[in-house]
Amino acid sequence: MFILEDKIRKNIKALKPYASARDEFSGMADVYLDANENPFPNGKNRYPDPHQRLLRNALSQLKGIDPSTIFTGNGSDEVIDLLMRTFCNPGIDNIITLPPTYGMYKVSAEINDVEVREVPLTTSFQPDVKAILGAADQNSKLLFICSPNNPTANLIDREIIVELLNRFEGLVVIDEAYIDFCPSESKISLMNEYTNLFIMQTLSKAWGLAGVRIGIGVGQPDLIQILDNTKPPYNISVLNAAAALEALSDPSSMKKKVDILLAEKNWLIKALMEMKSVMKVYASDANFLLVKIKDADLVYRKLIEQKIVVRNRSSVILCEQCLRITIGTPEENRELIQALHKLEA
Ligand SMILES: *Cc1c(COP(=O)(O)O)cnc(C)c1O
Repeated sequence: MFILEDKIRKNIKALKPYASARDEFSGMADVYLDANENPFPNGKNRYPDPHQRLLRNALSQLKGIDPSTIFTGNGSDEVIDLLMRTFCNPGIDNIITLPPTYGMYKVSAEINDVEVREVPLTTSFQPDVKAILGAADQNSKLLFICSPNNPTANLIDREIIVELLNRFEGLVVIDEAYIDFCPSESKISLMNEYTNLFIMQTLSKAWGLAGVRIGIGVGQPDLIQILDNTKPPYNISVLNAAAALEALSDPSSMKKKVDILLAEKNWLIKALMEMKSVMKVYASDANFLLVKIKDADLVYRKLIEQKIVVRNRSSVILCEQCLRITIGTPEENRELIQALHKLEA
């Protein structure tokens, strides 16, 4: 049984959150003289809504879940940091990560002086349940599962996630940054069954808003409340919220671009597999490919000479000789293949 009260830090439990002017009065008025703002209108002179109601309502409609289960932050990175700060006592608690995976979990833990226990994925890039449970103790507060995983590009098996939800005693965080690129549904559907489940999504990838910084957390309302108490009151600016709302009002435009990227991915896979230097293109449920290639370091440098930059992952565990290649526009993908052909010639 996961009891939130027993898992979060004492100081966070005891916290009396900051009450802004917009908290104390959230109705509609004609004259606002309560927040020491500059009164001359320019579309940005008022503080943003600390509760991000419009944004969370839009997400609620889109995902078919209650707004009280939705947190919004300044990118997933802020959500990760808030999870660290609410659950993990510095110098005492630990988190579990499953490398190779997204680097921010570890960095965020290190910033917060939280021990990181790394349990590598198996060679088929799936979690090693036995090793994870063996590494965990009562101070293991968070388990980060990235699905589809960056940089390996694969989804994590549903049965494995369910087993970890049943057996890991802390919060299971599933990072679904790439979920809109894959055919299988979000694990948000498991929310009703598991109180120790927290899902992260983002507008940075499929929604095309990496510059806008909107991260999404989905969890039980009591946890969302704790995150709200802990976050900086105005963590999403008026400009960011407006850009997000505009994008979210047109999901079909997002889906069209995703469809193009998925078609391009298939084209790129085929083109890469025909190359002599390519040893393996790993199956991908995301908008990037993990490619095992001869002399990855050299290819990486030679591509840069041709003004094309990919991500060199060859020094990462289980990714020896691998490059991570984001799917670009049709033109960019053809440029990449041409550049690689030039290297083989
Ligand atoms: C890109 C990415 C994110 C996005 O982070 P933001 O801070 O929302 O831009 C989150 N998780 C993973 C695994 C990613 O690859």
